[in-house]
Amino acid sequence: MNEFDIISRFFAPLAAESAFGLKDDAALLPARPGHELVVTTDSVSQGTDFFPFDPPDTVAQKALRVNLSDLAAKGAEPAYYLLNLTLPHSVTPDWLSAFASGLARDQREFGISLLGGDTGAGEGPLAISITAFGFVPQGKMVRRSGAQVGDAVFVTGTIGDSGGGLAIFKREKHTLPDADRDYLTARYRVPQPPVGFAAGLRAFAHASVDVSDGLMADLGHIASASGVRIRVDGECVPLSAPLRALWGEDAVQRAVTCGDDYQIAFTVPPSHAGPFTRIGRVEQGEGVSLVIGGKEITLPKSGYRHFR
Ligand code: ADP
Ligand code: MG
Repeated sequence: MNEFDIISRFFAPLAAESAFGLKDDAALLPARPGHELVVTTDSVSQGTDFFPFDPPDTVAQKALRVNLSDLAAKGAEPAYYLLNLTLPHSVTPDWLSAFASGLARDQREFGISLLGGDTGAGEGPLAISITAFGFVPQGKMVRRSGAQVGDAVFVTGTIGDSGGGLAIFKREKHTLPDADRDYLTARYRVPQPPVGFAAGLRAFAHASVDVSDGLMADLGHIASASGVRIRVDGECVPLSAPLRALWGEDAVQRAVTCGDDYQIAFTVPPSHAGPFTRIGRVEQGEGVSLVIGGKEITLPKSGYRHFR
């Protein structure tokens, strides 16, 4: 198979109408009146974001979903994506076919389609880079910088599950029943970004961030962009039962500093009582603090860092 065979066999069936069957040099997007385009990109690579033994369809889903969480956090509806692949020479048609089927499933689930990309062979590990495009009504993108003193802080979903799954894959000791283990490892492999929440977020959030490096680290981004301090009540952070079972007493501190959640943390006016979990509040000052049992906890690290 050369790259043109790969493109026409595996990726052309996924193409948006605007992509001319992946047979031209570029795609052509119609403007959408009254809207703005939100653009984001994220990569995953074998050994860092997924394991060599992970099923190819879940690798595809993770590569796409880590981008969908960014669009959702900005209040955007997903529309299109570009796919850049650096494939090892050893990649097989079976692997590519399963990979494309994972993309096809998520395209249907999230209403997004493929615009184009680039395909090459590399000496390094398998790497997948996706650039995603979504639409927001004019002027409605939710920034990191809009948090106001007095706001309530909310988070979607549960926090820390993916980090728990990663710990299990790294063979940290545990005594979980199989169902709990499988729940956590599935969260590591296939994030569950709250894509359907984009419109709700646009309607009332002052500030928002995608939780990818760790809850405390990402709330720190809102705090610095908005010029405020964020206080998190540890007891309020939503944790799944399997994660509590995995970590016991340490669960909160581990959950708020591990990465890969792909949920959304956001601030809203204090009177707001919406879906999802209220975990803290916006105060005057700077930085983020975690309070458990009335005491402020000093964390050794607030999240994942690629370069240390
Ligand atoms: P170029 O010579 O400009 O690099 P290519 O031969 O790489 O063009 O690409 C040909 C067409 O196939 C383009 O429309 C491109 O967007 C598409 N394409 C290439 N790789 C991928 C991929 N991994 N996923 C989707 N489309 C792809
Ligand atoms: Mg190319």
